Amino acid sequence: MTELTEALGRIQPHLGQTLLIAVSKTQPIQTIQKALDAGLRIFGENRVQEAQRKFSTLRVHYPDIELHLIGALQTNKAVAAVETFDVIQTLDRPALAEALAKAILKTGKRPRLYIEVNIGHEPQKAGVAPEDAGAFLDLCRSNYDLSPCGLMCMPPHQSDPRPYFEQAKRLVDDLHLPHLSMGMSEDYKIALECGATEIRLGSALFGARPAAKTVL
Ligand SMILES: *Cc1c(COP(=O)(O)O)cnc(C)c1O
Repeated sequence: MTELTEALGRIQPHLGQTLLIAVSKTQPIQTIQKALDAGLRIFGENRVQEAQRKFSTLRVHYPDIELHLIGALQTNKAVAAVETFDVIQTLDRPALAEALAKAILKTGKRPRLYIEVNIGHEPQKAGVAPEDAGAFLDLCRSNYDLSPCGLMCMPPHQSDPRPYFEQAKRLVDDLHLPHLSMGMSEDYKIALECGATEIRLGSALFGARPAAKTVL
């Protein structure tokens, strides 16, 4: 058994209905191929161009791949992002909602959108404040004809994630949204207990990540 299949053997029994997103950012295509061989089809990437470069050919052979953007998105890459991703998890500001709405009209592609929530009110992190998520959702619907269908969050590092996950679960329920993306390698078991519909795992599947290249 490879390390990846061992990791999957540890993780999959806990998943229940929760989907596993394999975070393949900075990983080479050979690693993604191993994940495909192991049956994984949902991948998370944090850069548009890197995702395009790695997945354009793979998708010809595996049309059932589902690609999620989990990194910050600049408005000038909205068209490329809409063309590349099935799900954009990082909708976090009105300017991006506007850019995505235009990109959707231009391309005819309509990826699922999740609102990124800054669940710990951390100044260095992206995302709308939890108390503003409802108003932002309304704005997306009424001004931009967008229908975000989930929330994504990352609790503060090095603190007990449970209260943050619980708050995110209450928020997604209050807003009547079906998707809640939360939980990474360190804290996914707690996220599963708190009602994540999808967890995003990188290092728990693939081991330590190669450093990001600055030029792709
Ligand atoms: C990198 C990343 C992950 C995966 O992190 P691991 O700790 O390797 O599981 C999950 N979510 C987001 C938003 C990320 O940027």
